[in-house]
Amino acid sequence: FLKDRTAAITGSTSGIGLAYARALAKEGANLVINGILPPADAEKLRTDLEQEFGVKVVFSAADMTKPAEIAGFIAEGEKAFGAIDILINNAGIQHVAPIDEFPLEKWDQIIAINLSSAFHTIRAALPKMKEKGWGRIINTASAHAFVASPFKSAYVAAKHGIAGLTKTVALEVATKGITVNAIAPGYVWTPLVEKQIPDTMKARGLSKEQVINDVLLAAQPTKDFVTVEQVAALAVFLCTDSAKSITGTTLPMDGGWTAA
Ligand code: NAD
Repeated sequence: FLKDRTAAITGSTSGIGLAYARALAKEGANLVINGILPPADAEKLRTDLEQEFGVKVVFSAADMTKPAEIAGFIAEGEKAFGAIDILINNAGIQHVAPIDEFPLEKWDQIIAINLSSAFHTIRAALPKMKEKGWGRIINTASAHAFVASPFKSAYVAAKHGIAGLTKTVALEVATKGITVNAIAPGYVWTPLVEKQIPDTMKARGLSKEQVINDVLLAAQPTKDFVTVEQVAALAVFLCTDSAKSITGTTLPMDGGWTAA
């Protein structure tokens, strides 16, 4: 049902972003994908997606800490496909440390990638969406848009910020056929989660098993990781006509985490 649509997804070479790309391509959308990947691997991913789903795919190496490159990411997509119809802000990184030891450059990098990049993509993509009178903006938030965990100050601040940005833009475009929502996953098993295990072991003095069971899944009443396919399926639903009255929300998919 997305055959004449184009989806641009930041941070879509891995994890949840790649799952969004695959799920939207399966529905026929052309893609603008993005992420940090060696050029040969990016080209392979691009052609693999084109062949598997029979859609057109553009890869952008835009660094989501750099506003000019982010504007270029949207411009590249508009040049290739005319407009971005579905914008998914998903690029994100994590750093785990007590706030009084939190590296300054990590704070700036997390705020830039996890929060400010969404401001830059939205402001660049909106004019064409408004012209077409149709658009879907989906931000990847987190359970950390609602609740905090210690040692994740930058990440929690950025994700709370994403929830606020989502509400604000939704109100600004409410009459334009454009919906703006965020998806707030609990723990999803991806490289981002895997990579934070060693730092959490260090910060809390725990073993790997203790971090997985007592820290990560401790917060998740289902005691099960969310899957990237489940998150992507919600994004696909948000692109349907049935979802056109859902706007300005941050939708939890967290195994009950934020119910507790
Ligand atoms: P991941 O590490 O698998 O993927 C992150 C993606 O972002 C990759 O494609 C990477 O190349 C890209 N990226 C990183 N820095 C970038 C930069 N400077 N410029 C452009 N691209 C960059 O992580 P993931 O777990 O799939 O996370 C995706 C999103 O989901 C993030 O916003 C994350 O905060 C959020 N999230 C993840 C979980 C989880 O448990 N994994 C839970 C809630 C929210």
